[in-house]
Amino acid sequence: ETRAALAAWEGPGRTADGAGVKVLANVADGESSAHAAEAPVEGVGLFRTELCFLNRKDEPSVEEQAEIYAEVLRPFAGKYVVVRTLDAGSDKPVAFATHEGEENPALGVRGLRLSFDNPELLERQLDGIAAAAESTGTETWVMAPMVATVAEAQAFADQVRSRGLKAGVMVEVPSAALLAHRMLEAVDFLSIGTNDLTQYAMAADRMATDLAHLTDPWQPAVLQLIAITAHAGQQAGKPVGVCGEAAADPLLAVALVGMGITSLSMAAAAVRPVGARLASVTMDVCEEAAEAALSAADPMAARAAVLEVLDRA
Ligand code: PEP
Ligand code: MG
Repeated sequence: ETRAALAAWEGPGRTADGAGVKVLANVADGESSAHAAEAPVEGVGLFRTELCFLNRKDEPSVEEQAEIYAEVLRPFAGKYVVVRTLDAGSDKPVAFATHEGEENPALGVRGLRLSFDNPELLERQLDGIAAAAESTGTETWVMAPMVATVAEAQAFADQVRSRGLKAGVMVEVPSAALLAHRMLEAVDFLSIGTNDLTQYAMAADRMATDLAHLTDPWQPAVLQLIAITAHAGQQAGKPVGVCGEAAADPLLAVALVGMGITSLSMAAAAVRPVGARLASVTMDVCEEAAEAALSAADPMAARAAVLEVLDRA
């Protein structure tokens, strides 16, 4: 993209022919939220709550949590924020929640699984989130990380909706992608975490730099899982977003939108490049790009195929 095109794009997210695609920010705390609110975004697609607690020994009270969450919600009054419940464990250890001494923490008790033997931890967090939503008036959606079964999604949705909030789950485990249509019967929206979805689909540690060729969201198997999930969303008429690093790649973003993804959430720095790129292509081109990426043999071929579609357009 030229500097002029980047500077000119001021949102909202849409393709050249006017199809709306929500461009959202990933945030970690009040400070990053205030910063993100200066970008041309329609809201926050991923508030990683566990990042507020990485240096806390003890669990904050419901009241303290409510204040911490309100700081993140406040800059987005009139817009909306998707709050993710604690994704403690594995690469994000939280002292008061993470299970110690697991052989395989990435496959262990992390994310929503922490509530299996400690349901009150999640209940208190949801109380804090609901209080923050109430005090700020910001539209608040809540989603759970590391969901593997429809029963988990249903139980979580019941807990969230009983507090009057919209409920969703992240698609980070291949089982959730394969069952996206049934997940969508239980929840209001899905959000694909491509970092973990790639890790689990490819059985390759997302932190292992020597496996970078495998932990690549352009891998055909990962793209297939995303396409299955997006298609289920279209069938159900419910939003399916992407909030992993893949959403920050302008080239991949075009293909994701062509698959039927309805929102892209990313680091604030990626908002303009992605928004400007989307505004430069029609939905037809996005669909062509999706097809090209999905039929490619490997990540390099997929990138080349999408570039070719864009060059032709
Ligand atoms: C992901 O897994 O893609 C995601 C968005 O969550 P996190 O990176 O925080 O694990
Ligand atoms: Mg994740």
